[in-house]
Amino acid sequence: MDITHIPSDSHEQVIRVADDATGLVGFIAIHSTQMGPAAGGLRMRPYASEDAALNDVLRLSHGMTFKNAAAGLPLGGGKAVIIGDPALQKSDALLCSFAKAINALKGRYWTAEDMGMSPADMAVIAAETEFVAGLPEGEFASGDPSPITARGIFNALRCTARHRFGTAELTGKSVALQGLGHVGWYLAEMLHEAGAALIVADINPDACSKAQAAFGAEVVHVDQILAVEADILAPCAIGGILNGQTIPALKVKAVAGGANNQLASPADGEALHKLGILYAPDYVANAGGIINVATEILRISDRAGFVAEKLAAAEATMDAILSSAKARNIAPHRIADEIVLQKMQASAAA
Ligand code: NAD
Repeated sequence: MDITHIPSDSHEQVIRVADDATGLVGFIAIHSTQMGPAAGGLRMRPYASEDAALNDVLRLSHGMTFKNAAAGLPLGGGKAVIIGDPALQKSDALLCSFAKAINALKGRYWTAEDMGMSPADMAVIAAETEFVAGLPEGEFASGDPSPITARGIFNALRCTARHRFGTAELTGKSVALQGLGHVGWYLAEMLHEAGAALIVADINPDACSKAQAAFGAEVVHVDQILAVEADILAPCAIGGILNGQTIPALKVKAVAGGANNQLASPADGEALHKLGILYAPDYVANAGGIINVATEILRISDRAGFVAEKLAAAEATMDAILSSAKARNIAPHRIADEIVLQKMQASAAA
């Protein structure tokens, strides 16, 4: 296994990890350890090129610094990616080789599951390094983060409704939900229970049929979900969906969902603000997942208490962001970034 250091002006440390014997090529990016050890998941995708993988790990690790700081976790931002199709190219030998690189960082970076990874894969990695969370079993194992992620999104969505409509009551409100995967399904359950009418889309037709049967959801084509008329859009699938093409077609009054990096660019957050579409910053809304993983990294005994406290704090942060956005007439994603930078400056000064 070879480690090559890649110079970076924006990140504390970036390494390329390669191993001819297992076909491994990947990157680990530590954006910041100012607030604590860098934490963020390991993603495996068939990236088109090494540059594409490197760009992704740099962007995602930067995002983790903001997400962890906004959630008040004593963790910095990091992320790891492996190039390859997880269904075809993932092997225990490849994961063990990558785990040795994680171990060589001596705890400056903690990994966990992300796209293309499972709790079983984290158990394989744990054979080579202690700096791994999201394990399926063990004293502090935190299990599937999706229900807690969805709970946090539900709280954020209610908070957004209160700011946009004057009430957090969801009975009679319609929610367009993009993606019925781990997070989207749990969120759909909560929204249905709260009385919201659901309009759903997923590339998996079975998930749509199930939602129709379970929640009376209206199913629309994946190409239509971003243009349906609804009170709130909840993106729970892929990133970059709020962009120059989709925003002019939106017929919602607010956006609150769990997908990472919903805004294709900061300018898209400004565009939403100008249109009066209230945007709940994604990394504040979807922090439940990392809050859950943090209980494992930080060896928290009272897991339920920690999660409840941090989820309540995330909701209070969302409330403060949306209040400030209205009072100052500034787009919420700008306020969220501002709050994080203030927290980081305060910690640097302390
Ligand atoms: P998942 O893979 O379980 O679910 C994603 C769902 O979206 C799948 O059902 C998939 O078929 C569907 N989908 C993919 N492309 C689509 C499209 N173009 N239109 C409609 N549906 C589409 O993933 P997940 O764990 O539910 O995560 C969903 C999002 O939330 C991701 O952006 C993820 O990064 C983010 N997130 C997840 C967690 C977590 O705890 N799982 C935490 C934080 C953020």
